[in-house]
Amino acid sequence: MLRFCKSLALYGPTKKTYTDRLELLKLIFKSSDDISLIKVIDAQCNVAFIATKLLVNAPSAIEKILCTTDGCNNNNRDIESATLILRFKDVKNLQKSLDNYTKEQVYECGYCYK
Ligand SMILES: [Zn+2]
Repeated sequence: MLRFCKSLALYGPTKKTYTDRLELLKLIFKSSDDISLIKVIDAQCNVAFIATKLLVNAPSAIEKILCTTDGCNNNNRDIESATLILRFKDVKNLQKSLDNYTKEQVYECGYCYK
């Protein structure tokens, strides 16, 4: 999907972008089974819907949990998150917010409390 977006931004609508667009839409929507040879895909939706459908198996973030206590369930665990929730007042601070979001955090284990 990101390659499609890049291609569309760089080259505009071309035969290839229309073909690529069809392949993406076929993953989400069903085409009508008309008697004619023309198939119709009703793709009325918004960008968020398409992004959610196409990126369902691509988490925005993976939180790595690591507890050093022997036998703890949090010994080495990944938690996938579909969204990132950032606090920032100005878009100029977006990179700083992302840097803070990805910083290593140390806190008491929620499983063994050590
Ligand atoms: Zn633990």
